[in-house]
Amino acid sequence: MPSTKYIFVTGGVSSSLGKGIIAASLAKLLQSQGYSVTIQKLDPYINIDPGTLNPYEHGECYVTDDGAETDLDLGHYERFLNVPTSQANNVTTGKIYKSVIEKERKGEFLGKTVQVIPHITDEIKERIQTLGNTGEYDLIITEIGGTVGDIESLPYIEALRQMKWDLGQSNVLAIHLTLIPYLSAAKELKTKPTQHSVKTLMESGVQADILVCRTEHEIGNAIKEKLARFCNVDKESVIQSIDASTIYDVPNLMLEEGLDKVVLKKLNLKSDKPNLDVWNSFLKRYRNPKNKIKIGLIGKYVELQDSYKSILESFIHAGATNEVEVEIISIHSEYINKENVHSKLASLNGVLVAPGFGERGIEGKIQAIEYVRVNKIPFFGICLGMQMAVIEFARNILNLKDANSTEMVEETSSPVIDLMQSQKNIVNKGGTMRLGSWECDLKKESNAREIYNSNTIHERHRHRYEFNSDYLDKIESKGLIASGINSKTGLVEIIELNNHPWFIGVQFHPEYKSTVYNPHPLFVSFVKAGLEHSKLDL
Ligand code: GLN
Repeated sequence: MPSTKYIFVTGGVSSSLGKGIIAASLAKLLQSQGYSVTIQKLDPYINIDPGTLNPYEHGECYVTDDGAETDLDLGHYERFLNVPTSQANNVTTGKIYKSVIEKERKGEFLGKTVQVIPHITDEIKERIQTLGNTGEYDLIITEIGGTVGDIESLPYIEALRQMKWDLGQSNVLAIHLTLIPYLSAAKELKTKPTQHSVKTLMESGVQADILVCRTEHEIGNAIKEKLARFCNVDKESVIQSIDASTIYDVPNLMLEEGLDKVVLKKLNLKSDKPNLDVWNSFLKRYRNPKNKIKIGLIGKYVELQDSYKSILESFIHAGATNEVEVEIISIHSEYINKENVHSKLASLNGVLVAPGFGERGIEGKIQAIEYVRVNKIPFFGICLGMQMAVIEFARNILNLKDANSTEMVEETSSPVIDLMQSQKNIVNKGGTMRLGSWECDLKKESNAREIYNSNTIHERHRHRYEFNSDYLDKIESKGLIASGINSKTGLVEIIELNNHPWFIGVQFHPEYKSTVYNPHPLFVSFVKAGLEHSKLDL
């Protein structure tokens, strides 16, 4: 008897139905009943990881403690479960094939013809069970990316089919997330696309055990009965997932629908009342803000919600902690200039300059940072945002007029941000940045030290360039302090200004570590500074 049980979440009818949120919500409900759960995402694309993908293609690239560049759904898993994920939690077709081909080159298949079945499917099954074999988890929830029927998802569905046989029906469960569209002309919810999608899954030999039905309107009993009849499931296994005003409502909605109960029953596990006290007190604070502030988010992918996912979620956590509604005003850095900066930023209570790569939009970021520094508007710079704050300071306070990052202008005479020594001989782009969690010591009596209430912190990174320490003394002598340093390498991780209400730039990504149960201290403090700013009589 395997001790770990496996739950698969597949998607049908349409993409973007929110498989990640359903998986995370179910995991939350199971975790809140005492089960140890983790979630894994299988992505059917050929890239080894999303690290080389443009945010326009794939949204944010989420980074784990152990330095995996992963799908943004892993961010949801961590935010919901408050448990870190790792390399093993995100597998792509690229990774699967790479590993099988490497084994073939080593002769590990002993002269056999290497085929999709069994070699690719075995590799997939092995990756799924890597987490189970750690012995740490009662349940693994595996989300299969894409939509059933996609050519590229077929080996994953086949692996699921085989696992049902290998481990037994009561140890492996298939949840199918589907869409019930509403036709306004007919004023009717339609089940046919779901019937087809369940059939498509069956063509691959997998009977869905549970249907989770995304809908804009209540689906009611009659539709549940119809779906049960046509799709070969019992009625209690037809779960409605109605549009929610926040993703954080979904665990409670799934609880009302009994998703956790039916899952546990089918897996022969006992169910209890989940303890969601902390979760619900977060929701209560989130829903009942006492004040409202406006924060500008300056970046170059602002038209895409997913590109700065973790930052937006971190503001939700920090807003709830402060009982403040944080309205995010997205501002495209490319269109900020000297003439319009006042009109764009004057009414804000805080400005966050986002991470990023490449030259596009950086002058706008620098212009914005000058404005908030001079006008004492709270400023938070993340990664590229921190680097731009150093450049702004060097240009305008140290008078190094062409100060820049060598990422943007290689030949600049004042490279205040420069390629890290460890990066200088790297040619390959994928997975070669300074990634994952690194230690950082905080300077005594600094704002960072006070905010974290700790001498040492661990934060996640994703960058190639760094603060150039040749300029450290000069920059500090004018008041921009390096308040966080990696003691082993000497890399500057945090900069801050003292004569300013809140001006902090971080080389790392605090947004990856903010969760509902552990809102990130820097975001909490920044929102608090925004609140104080909003109360000033300007
Ligand atoms: N492009 C910058 C670097 O590589 C910043 C990276 C980031 O913002 N994640 O150092």
